[in-house]
Amino acid sequence: MKKGKLIIISAPSGCGKSTIIGEIMDAGKLDLQFSVSATNRKPRPGEVDGVNYHFLTDQQFKDLIAENAFVEYEQVYPGRYYGTLRSEIQDRIDAGHNVILDIDVRGGVNVKEQFGADALSVFIAPPDIPELRRRLEKRGSESAEAIEERVGRAEYELGFKDRYDYVVVNDELPRAIGEVAALMEDFIKA
Ligand code: 5GP
Repeated sequence: MKKGKLIIISAPSGCGKSTIIGEIMDAGKLDLQFSVSATNRKPRPGEVDGVNYHFLTDQQFKDLIAENAFVEYEQVYPGRYYGTLRSEIQDRIDAGHNVILDIDVRGGVNVKEQFGADALSVFIAPPDIPELRRRLEKRGSESAEAIEERVGRAEYELGFKDRYDYVVVNDELPRAIGEVAALMEDFIKA
């Protein structure tokens, strides 16, 4: 049986990554399953354990590190850990399903190195930093200080974009969705 493939998607926050992934998964054209990461951060309102993340205590996260349960894990924000569980991907790939990972840049580069030609990595970029700042401000959900933190983080993450297979600029959402979907389709069919 043909093995499934990995699709790695990374993007600075505010670049439309969740919308793009959601639309492509909802379209249901590709046999895609979302890898639910583990994290020690607290759930936000509306987030469901086991759906958005496996929400763990610090100790549970440490125990999984010790058990070698992660393909990769990173401290993405100070004190906040996120990791891709082997159990989320291996069986599905073996069963021929494709697995999509929404992970940060260091995790993305790491997984690509491990999986090579079995993984496609796509970086979604904002048109430019001032536009990203405007989008985050428009969202209105965060303080000025938090927005500056995210913009700083975005500048850092943009520094990794050349280490991805493809970069898609999200200047116009429907076009960006189409472009990412086409890249995935070509890769999965190859
Ligand atoms: P948030 O807390 O906003 O849900 O996610 C923060 C960041 O963590 C996002 O950039 C997201 O892609 C990243 N992230 C989520 N899961 C993982 C993971 O399993 N590994 C890594 N390295 N990053 C992750």
